Amino acid sequence: MTNESVIKKVQHKLCSAKFVAVLTGAGISADSGVPTFRGAEGLWKQHRAEDLASPHAFAHDPKLVWEWYSWRRELIATKVPNLAHEALATMAGRFSSFVLMTQNVDGLHGMAGSQDCLEMHGNIWKVRCTKCFTVTENRDLPIVFPPQCSACGGLLRPHIVWFGEPLDPPVLDRCMHALQSCDVLLVIGTSGVVQPAASFAMMVKSAGGYTVEINLDPTPSSGSIDIVITGKAKDVVPLLCENSIQDV
Ligand code: NAD
Ligand code: ZN
Repeated sequence: MTNESVIKKVQHKLCSAKFVAVLTGAGISADSGVPTFRGAEGLWKQHRAEDLASPHAFAHDPKLVWEWYSWRRELIATKVPNLAHEALATMAGRFSSFVLMTQNVDGLHGMAGSQDCLEMHGNIWKVRCTKCFTVTENRDLPIVFPPQCSACGGLLRPHIVWFGEPLDPPVLDRCMHALQSCDVLLVIGTSGVVQPAASFAMMVKSAGGYTVEINLDPTPSSGSIDIVITGKAKDVVPLLCENSIQDV
C-alpha cells in the first residue's frame, strides 16, 4: 500500500473512533531538533544516555549526571513544538476520550497546548529532593552543582524515571486504562525498546483495539502493528488530523 492509501485508511478508522490513545517517543521531538538517544547525535562526551540516566550513575557521580542534564536542558530550552505536537493538541478535542502518553521529558506537548499529557518518564524541567522527595519546577540554566532543596538542603535530582526505575503507579494506571479502552492507538516516533511502552501496542491489540505506527524506520513492533506509516511525524500527524475533520 502507498503511504497515501495507508493514511486514508487511518483517517477512516479515526472517524469512527470514540476513544483515541497516543504514545509518543523521542522521534516526535526530533522534528523540533531535540536529539534522540539512539540517533547519531545521541552520544554526549562519549557517554551513552543509558549509562547516565540511571540511579547507579547518579549515586556514583551526581556531578557528571547533572552536567549531562544541564547540557540537555540548555539544548531543549531553545526548541519549540512542531506541527505534530500541535496537531495532537488539536486532535484531543475531537474524540469523546483522548489520552496522550509520552516517553518524552522535554515538555513540548504541554507547550503545544496538550492538557493532561501523561509524562510517563517525568519532565526535565522538574527536580526532586533526594531527602524529602518534594518535587518542584526548576528552569535554572545552567544548573549549578550541587543543586540543593530549599526546604531541607538535600541534593536535588532530575524528576525523571531513570532506566531501572518503576513508573509512577497512578500514571501507569491511567495508561493501562487507556490501553484497555481505546479504539485506536497511534504510536509515534518511538523505537519500541523501552518497557513498558514497548508492549503498549500488543496490549491494545489484545483488548481488540486498532494500532497505527508512525516512524521513519521499522521498529521491533512494526510486524505486529495493524498499519505502519513511514515518514516524519511532523509530516504525517497533521494529515491524520486535517482529514478527519473533513470526513466527520
Ligand atoms: P528512541 O531514541 O529510542 O527512538 C526514536 C524513534 O523515533 C526511532 O524509532 C526513530 O526511527 C524515530 N524517529 C526519529 N526521527 C523521527 C521523525 N522525525 N518522525 C518519526 N519518527 C522518528 O526514543 P524512545 O523510543 O522515545 O525511547 C528513548 C528514551 O529516551 C525515552 O525513555 C525518553 O524518555 C528518552 N528521550 C527523551 C527525549 C525527549 O524528551 N525529547 C529525547 C531523547 C530520549
Ligand atoms: Zn528536601
